[in-house]
Amino acid sequence: RAKDGGKNNHAVFEPGMNERALERLGMEADLRRALDREEFRVHYQPKVSVRTGRIVAHEALVRWEHPERGLVPPAEFIPLAEETGLIVPLGRWVLGEACRQAKEWQSWYPTDPPLAMSVNLSAAQFKRPDLGASVAKVLDDTGLDPRDLILEITESMVVEDVTAALVTLRELKALGVKIAVDDFGTGYSSLSYLKRFPVDYLKIDRSFVEGLGRDPKDEGIVSASIELAHALGLEAIAEGVETASQLERLRVLGCGLAQGFFFQKPFPRDTASESLAALFA
Ligand code: C2E
Ligand code: MG
Ligand code: MG
Ligand code: MG
Repeated sequence: RAKDGGKNNHAVFEPGMNERALERLGMEADLRRALDREEFRVHYQPKVSVRTGRIVAHEALVRWEHPERGLVPPAEFIPLAEETGLIVPLGRWVLGEACRQAKEWQSWYPTDPPLAMSVNLSAAQFKRPDLGASVAKVLDDTGLDPRDLILEITESMVVEDVTAALVTLRELKALGVKIAVDDFGTGYSSLSYLKRFPVDYLKIDRSFVEGLGRDPKDEGIVSASIELAHALGLEAIAEGVETASQLERLRVLGCGLAQGFFFQKPFPRDTASESLAALFA
């Protein structure tokens, strides 16, 4: 009844909240238009072999080139895109763009094994029963070898519905793509899921890598995560490597792959090509 909800209704119409609601609505409309207007951009960050220093893959990271606000980072629009379902067409676009780019770099810079591409999946994408079909279509359209595609998921995406997640992961694995667990250690991890789930990479979260060589607790967590990855037959990737000393610690601890500003910040495709070209010069 209206009377019972009076307090709440009143709160909705507070001037400040109204402003925020309007701003959100505006942002949502902007986001919808942005897809049609092709305002999204994909930047790429190299994944580097700790042992050889060579680029083995890139991670695709989306940005929004807003006509007034400039380059908007994903943290400022992915949550809204998730809520509104826009993340599904956006995610599909990022996947297509990244696979096409991977294919191009593979032909320009042939390596053995070929340069791979890593793409982040959102919770909404991961829940869709047509995810496998949609990934298969992108691979087919772009001609990228499934073995050269890595899909990054987070721990929280799999704990919500473990049975459904297992079905989805098996379907993706059947296509031949690889799976990475992103931001490992920050979500609701369960070692029994990690044991059961068909994943290939463990990405150690930046918050732990940050303390390498400085904080014995972080050092312990990173070291144990690398050991755990290897014990389960997975490859460890350290994210957010910013200094030479962090990289040196990772080398000593036996971490296979690393990403971070120390090597390169995420860059638009042309600049990323330059760093690849430099490797092949
Ligand atoms: P993530 O997948 O964990 O990506 C790593 C983030 O850390 C990226 O931020 C990257 O720019 C940043 N980073 C990399 N190296 C360093 C470093 O050395 N130091 C620091 N301080 N930061 C570093 P970004 O691009 O802002 O992306 C943030 C998050 O947004 C991503 O975290 C991912 O969860 C999400 N995201 C980005 N692109 C997509 C996408 O296409 N789809 C979905 N669903 N999510 C995306
Ligand atoms: Mg990621
Ligand atoms: Mg991450
Ligand atoms: Mg992250």
